[in-house]
Amino acid sequence: MLIVMDKNATSDQIDAVVAAIEQKGYKARPIPGGERVSIGVLHNKGPVDAALFAGFAGVRDIIPVTRPYKLVSREFKPDDTIVRIEDIEIGNGHLTMIAGPCAIESLEQALTIARHVQQSGAQIFRGGAFKPRTSPYSFQGLGLEGLEILARVREETGMPVVTEVMDLETFDLVEKYADIIQIGTRNMQNFSLLRRAGQSHKPIMLKRGMAATIDEWLMAAEYILDGGNENVILCERGVRTFVHHSRNTLDLSAIPYVRHESHLPIIVDPSHAAGRRDQVMPLSRAAIAGGAHGLMVEVHHAPDQALSDGAQSLYPQQYETLCREVKAIFNLLKTDIG
Ligand code: PEP
Ligand code: MN
Repeated sequence: MLIVMDKNATSDQIDAVVAAIEQKGYKARPIPGGERVSIGVLHNKGPVDAALFAGFAGVRDIIPVTRPYKLVSREFKPDDTIVRIEDIEIGNGHLTMIAGPCAIESLEQALTIARHVQQSGAQIFRGGAFKPRTSPYSFQGLGLEGLEILARVREETGMPVVTEVMDLETFDLVEKYADIIQIGTRNMQNFSLLRRAGQSHKPIMLKRGMAATIDEWLMAAEYILDGGNENVILCERGVRTFVHHSRNTLDLSAIPYVRHESHLPIIVDPSHAAGRRDQVMPLSRAAIAGGAHGLMVEVHHAPDQALSDGAQSLYPQQYETLCREVKAIFNLLKTDIG
């Protein structure tokens, strides 16, 4: 339930409603809006009786929230969330380009790729230090050394970095180095990780589980917001289907649906969706045309020698073309269509 306060409601009136909500054993979450404050009623196990709050001074309206997710929903917050990392804005009206290798392999590799992608227009550098690999015999990432390399890349290029956290044990460490903490597809419903992410002061990029519905994905994001961290970026990266022509199937319809249901920014990872280089460009164009707020793309200067995901990694030259094309599409939609 959402209690909408009057434009002129005083802070005492707001406090009184908050106290009444908590006195009933629920959690109150004031949500400042452009004109007025709304107060979300959370953690109720069943329906909440609107009459309990209707008589309070300063209450303008009481709206039942129909969705299972609350804080991530547009019902709670109609205006788009913009996630800020230094001077970069992710969300409504902005196109965010994130690129880098699947895994950090060495300082030289990371810096070479970072410089290429930055020149092409990437604003944020990606690279895994802790890698969730299907086989225990595959390259598992450089761990702490990888994080230190990411810090060097940030120092040398000025680009913020995004990297994946795999477990609670390494959360503090990853949090110290990352500007954006990535929760991968295999961990989308790792609830203890989500709760820890909710306590973080760093933005979280939450990838969609490879077999998750959008409700499940948004409920996972709800854990993070419920913990107090409102800076969540959703990332559609393809879901498992029966096809063999791509590694996953990029669910393009997730973009308009998520944008309708939630105020959170949504970006697309065409690399893990495709699994093969030749599909990355067309999927990127389609994602931006479909309303994504940005792209996260794997790029490698020598994909044949990459220690992971070389087959889906673009050559730097291809990434440059990709940036040019998707920027043109984004600007066209912004100016001509809306
Ligand atoms: C990644 O981005 O490095 C990654 C492992 O992606 P996903 O979790 O989507 O498979
Ligand atoms: Mn990868």
